[in-house]
Amino acid sequence: MTQEITDLLPGYNCGECGYRQCRDFAAALLEGEAELDGCPHMAYEKLALNIPVIQQLLGGPGPGIKDSRHIIGVIDGLEADFVFSPLPGEPSCREDLHPFDPEVGPEVSEYVRYRPLGCPVTHFARVLDMKRGIMTVHLVGPIHRLGRDDVAFEDIGLCMVMAFDGIVSKGRVPDVGQTVKFLPEHCMMQKVHSGVVVHSEGSRLRIEGIDLKVW
Ligand code: SF4
Repeated sequence: MTQEITDLLPGYNCGECGYRQCRDFAAALLEGEAELDGCPHMAYEKLALNIPVIQQLLGGPGPGIKDSRHIIGVIDGLEADFVFSPLPGEPSCREDLHPFDPEVGPEVSEYVRYRPLGCPVTHFARVLDMKRGIMTVHLVGPIHRLGRDDVAFEDIGLCMVMAFDGIVSKGRVPDVGQTVKFLPEHCMMQKVHSGVVVHSEGSRLRIEGIDLKVW
């Protein structure tokens, strides 16, 4: 089991978690002597997707999952209808952003830094598309780490998060038109979001009108 968990850790052996190697950190996780957020690199890019897998290996039900019936946001304790996860083969849910600065214009594949309106956390993302003032991105992480220091990015400032595209991985699949409360798997705060489902194909949804105010 130690090797299985080690394989899901970053493998940098940097010691920032307080253990000399990722393997030692994995052993400490299994012993209950360390918490997964002790590794600062786990929140970035594809590694964040390993978090629920590690949590399940450690015997937990996954992030925000209190039990089979309740999905609870970590930061606010609110209950969500479902966990929203990336489309198959993608590193995070797709986000559609509207930058408030009309002058910004990153190219596809470039990295951007932004702060979503209503969220205290600075985000980094990779641009997938840019049309009519709406930028589609994959979230990369809360700070610019990426495992390298030489990646350039454009600071695009405050952005309105317009929409998420992803799949319902746990919980109830809603109908089109419903206002929903959901927990994005990649959210660094594991905070419940709200929005309206505007398109669905099975468990795949498009949710618009994203809001961090949940009632
Ligand atoms: S901080 Fe993360 S990457 Fe660095 S040694 Fe610990 S587990 Fe490995």
